[in-house]
Amino acid sequence: MIINKIKKVILDLIFPISCLGCGLEDTWLCATCLKKIPINEHLICPICHKKNNGSFCTKCSKSQSLDGLMVAAPYENNLIQDCIQTLKYKFIKELSSPLSEILARYLRTIDKKYKQPILTNYSQTVLTIVPLHTKRLRERNFNQAELIGQSIKNEFKFNYIPGLLTRQHYTQAQASLSRRDRLKNLNQAFSMPKSLDLSQKNVIIIDDVATTLTTLNECAKVLKQNGCLCVWGLVIARSG
Ligand SMILES: [Zn+2]
Ligand SMILES: [Zn+2]
Repeated sequence: MIINKIKKVILDLIFPISCLGCGLEDTWLCATCLKKIPINEHLICPICHKKNNGSFCTKCSKSQSLDGLMVAAPYENNLIQDCIQTLKYKFIKELSSPLSEILARYLRTIDKKYKQPILTNYSQTVLTIVPLHTKRLRERNFNQAELIGQSIKNEFKFNYIPGLLTRQHYTQAQASLSRRDRLKNLNQAFSMPKSLDLSQKNVIIIDDVATTLTTLNECAKVLKQNGCLCVWGLVIARSG
């Protein structure tokens, strides 16, 4: 924790705070640049990318535990990439706030347009996050998904349970692994405290970036083994 703080002080000295988009001082992302970040206005099948309601189409649903995916913004947008990476790897916690706003803007749009039952039926939907292992949490000092979940639940009134899933063992960073190794790496990585009854509930899992969906699928598998009806992923962007 202290190391993170020292790191942050040094980073602030070397790189004074300025907007990642336009360089304006004293803010990580100014209001003008935040407004310019586009959001996705369509839901698509997470595999074949055909427009639908965001669920896996019949052809693509084989071996998926996850039911669907909502992706807030295009990863091709350089600014969104910068924001996510700066939050995660330079430990700039403050960026979770504009990123949450992007996610909220997206949810409002999707909610109006698609009337997704998972979004409209608040009382049946539990909002949770992809957990970090305590070791990684100590290194980073915060879970970016948790910060985002915290702000989202205020506006959308979901039943927010950040500790719904726990990470069993320390796994390597998924980004550094091949597709096959990602699956091996995450095998039985997640678990759920048995005391929680989630039967008849739907769950939305927040993560910052989804790539191959391995992590979200592993989380969904555990949630369904514990009685969940339907599990969706909600991410800021999808890379790869
Ligand atoms: Zn700016
Ligand atoms: Zn498909």
